[in-house]
Amino acid sequence: MVLIKDILSPENEGKTVSIKGFANSVRKGKNNVFIMLRDPTGLIQCVSHTGESPFELTDTITRESSMGVEGTIKQDQRAEGGYELHIGSIKIFGLAEPFPLKKGHNKVYLFDNRHLWFRSVRVTSIMKIRSTVFESIHSFFKENGFYEIQSPSFVGGSVEGGSTLFNVDYFGKKAYLTQSWQLYAEAMVDSLWKIYTVAPSFRAEKSRTWRHLTEFWHAEAEVAFADNNDIMDIEEKLIKYVVKTVLEKNQRELEILKRDVKILENVVNKPFLRMRYEEIIDLANKNGLKLEYGADLGADEERVITSKLETPVFSMNYPIKLKPFYHKPDPSDPSHVLCNDLLAPEGYGEIVGAGQRVDDKETLIKRIEEEGLDVKDYEWYIDLRRYGAIPHSGFGLGVDRLVMWICKLPHIAYAVPFPRTMRRLKP
Ligand code: ATP
Ligand code: MG
Repeated sequence: MVLIKDILSPENEGKTVSIKGFANSVRKGKNNVFIMLRDPTGLIQCVSHTGESPFELTDTITRESSMGVEGTIKQDQRAEGGYELHIGSIKIFGLAEPFPLKKGHNKVYLFDNRHLWFRSVRVTSIMKIRSTVFESIHSFFKENGFYEIQSPSFVGGSVEGGSTLFNVDYFGKKAYLTQSWQLYAEAMVDSLWKIYTVAPSFRAEKSRTWRHLTEFWHAEAEVAFADNNDIMDIEEKLIKYVVKTVLEKNQRELEILKRDVKILENVVNKPFLRMRYEEIIDLANKNGLKLEYGADLGADEERVITSKLETPVFSMNYPIKLKPFYHKPDPSDPSHVLCNDLLAPEGYGEIVGAGQRVDDKETLIKRIEEEGLDVKDYEWYIDLRRYGAIPHSGFGLGVDRLVMWICKLPHIAYAVPFPRTMRRLKP
């Protein structure tokens, strides 16, 4: 199939080509019809004049109709994109009824019509970048000796705390949708040593923020014999790799989104900052917040902390109370854990949650009890410390959040084909 991007070059002048697409816009004059034809790769102006054989049919075309067009190409400075296709013949696949989307609709209306809005050049550009992000995450792990492996989506217990669990009726028993592959990863890492997965995670997020979905794509990795510093190195390499690939492959899409790429270039070229929790609190307070030591950091706080940054920052070693039971207490200061959250600059905040895991049985049981959880529910997980425990660390990257930040979008929903939030289940 011939695509629009392939015909927009001077050596095609005068050639006859056959392309397919949708009418992005239609302009009808007294003596001619102009159709801006759109395919996944670009736009080209197609024109038909009165008196020519395809004119009558072309004149019936409405916005968002789909068609095949055969015609000759000529360079024309007046045409958007610099080229024009003079229509020789046209075949309509589907004549569109009056299209319900125009400029200036509000966000709710657009998401109610996501199935149609999806075709817009802007949304298409975001989805192409999303495709590169997923592809490059897989290539990074494959090039670095990781095995891809899967964990179940139906689970019997919580990883990230009970308040965001989705209940499922499982043949009369209570089951949940997975929040993370974490506990299963720790079993699988004992045999495979370097593993990753890219899969949906589910969280019943009731706090509605610009960065929370109820179903999101989670790229998770677990590495045997890695400590908190080693895992940060891997996270940094991964993010640099993904951003570099997007800069190489999606120049056009970044231009369409008017994304200033300077910061993305910094991400590739400059080392990420590494700051301990207390330094992050200081930074927040220097930027006008009034956080006490021990405060948790959410979307609003991280927005302030990262808004002036030009590279991502690792926020490390949180107070133990702020993190789930599986995080390893720092042996030199057991009131803090060996963890790191990677915060994206420009106000975006957390895109990765990571850390070293508890690797001894006694500490693990104590931490489970301290969190008010039932040790019985975690017996198989505790087994992993009974029979040959090893030091290990891992991370979870929110892929939709990464896409949101790379594209500099105002809300995570824009980064997802059909977003799921507390208020949206359709379309
Ligand atoms: P937050 O503090 O923003 O709620 P979290 O600390 O609960 O995030 P983790 O449990 O560390 O998140 O999950 C790992 C990563 O998964 C996060 O860094 C984030 O990128 C992503 N993530 C977590 N929850 C969501 C969500 N509801 N929607 C989209 N992405 C999410
Ligand atoms: Mg986190």
